[in-house]
Amino acid sequence: MTVKTILAGKSADVITIEPTATLADAIKLLGQHRIGAVVVTGADRRLIGILSERDIVRTLGEQGAAALQAPVSESMTRKVVTCAETETISEIMERMTAGKFRHVPVIDQGRLVGIVSIGDVVKSRLQEMERESDALRDYIRTA
Ligand code: AMP
Repeated sequence: MTVKTILAGKSADVITIEPTATLADAIKLLGQHRIGAVVVTGADRRLIGILSERDIVRTLGEQGAAALQAPVSESMTRKVVTCAETETISEIMERMTAGKFRHVPVIDQGRLVGIVSIGDVVKSRLQEMERESDALRDYIRTA
């Protein structure tokens, strides 16, 4: 199963924020959309970073509530690991495990076309396992 299959089953919208928005804006956005990370984009919707709830918690822990008015650019991760639609779910799982993060933006020809979260990956793996066990059960019954 590939990243493309996951994207086909969810909304095509990727929630993004500008680097000059404040952490308070980002918190509001995460809450409104019930998500754990937001992609930071610059001109032409070019990906320039990612901000997750972990970054927000870390910044608030270090700087206190005053950081709520600081720009997203000060807390985001700039070196973003991305993937292509053609990659397999196993490859994305390995990347998330190795990098210890739960979100991977999907890029196609330099364009942001989606985001895969650990929740999406777990859901698709469970569906795959169910299909495998159904096929095995059918095989055993008819053998
Ligand atoms: P997460 O587990 O996705 O909430 O993120 C944990 C940390 O990894 C945070 O500092 C994020 O900014 C960072 N992060 C999340 N996704 C990525 C990614 N795809 N590439 C690089 N860093 C990431």
